[in-house]
Amino acid sequence: MYNVLKRAEEINVGEPWFKVLRLPNDVFSIQEPRHQHGVISFLILGSRKSILLDTGMGIRDMSTIVDQLTDLEVVVVNSHTHFDHIGDNHRFSHIFVYDDELAVKRLTTGWSNDELQFDVSHDSFPAGYPQGFDQKSYAIQAVGREKIYLLHDKDMIDLGNRTLQVLHTPGHSPDSIMLLDHMNRSLFTGDTFYPDWLFAFINEAWGGSDLKVYAKTMQELTWLIPELDYLYPSHTKPLADPAVLDDVAKAFEIVLNGEEVKYELIEMNGQELKIYYFDGFAIVTQKNAC
Ligand SMILES: [Zn+2]
Repeated sequence: MYNVLKRAEEINVGEPWFKVLRLPNDVFSIQEPRHQHGVISFLILGSRKSILLDTGMGIRDMSTIVDQLTDLEVVVVNSHTHFDHIGDNHRFSHIFVYDDELAVKRLTTGWSNDELQFDVSHDSFPAGYPQGFDQKSYAIQAVGREKIYLLHDKDMIDLGNRTLQVLHTPGHSPDSIMLLDHMNRSLFTGDTFYPDWLFAFINEAWGGSDLKVYAKTMQELTWLIPELDYLYPSHTKPLADPAVLDDVAKAFEIVLNGEEVKYELIEMNGQELKIYYFDGFAIVTQKNAC
């Protein structure tokens, strides 16, 4: 696998919480590496407007970073509604999300401090808490229903000189989407694929995972591989080689079919989980999922 990250250049935005890279095809990644999730949002520039794919954890103000990178109108698209992707939604006026009742409910209620306890432990921040961060009051703010616009599978989002297509890709969560930029041979994969532990165990209250559905989604994506040069994943590393999608699809089949494969039992946030290791990524399921 060639090193696609060689194509990235770091931009100094004067805010150490964020790491910003200029990536191929007029895309910036806005990463939050000082939290263990290392979540990545993307600013995708068109000629008339731009998409901010996700708004991170809401710990520092992402809108000030976006303002440095573009003068264009910015619309937010949420890859799904887990807390670490919607934290700064409230700072923007147009939020696009997949048409799913629970997703809309989540956006309009936010995430409470109670729900986020596991993610604000001191251990979650490898370099310690950022200055001014209060783990006892941290929560994700709600947005008004009037700011929310619904997306459907195969919808097209026109940015002027480029058009992105919405792909509904459930499995990690029911409201997960990817954005396909066919002309630029690029796929923004959200949390459905990134080169790390893939979460196929999330419980229902959190926008639940479904292993079978996840496997089907990955299988269906393999036809796209010849059409792609870049994946832009939402955690760990902002660029990946599309060929890995074939390995991921095969890995899900192996896990689902209960084939012999190396795994470990782990406990995470009070849940018993199984982690299956593959080359460059892993699949994490509920202990009794299969
Ligand atoms: Zn997620």
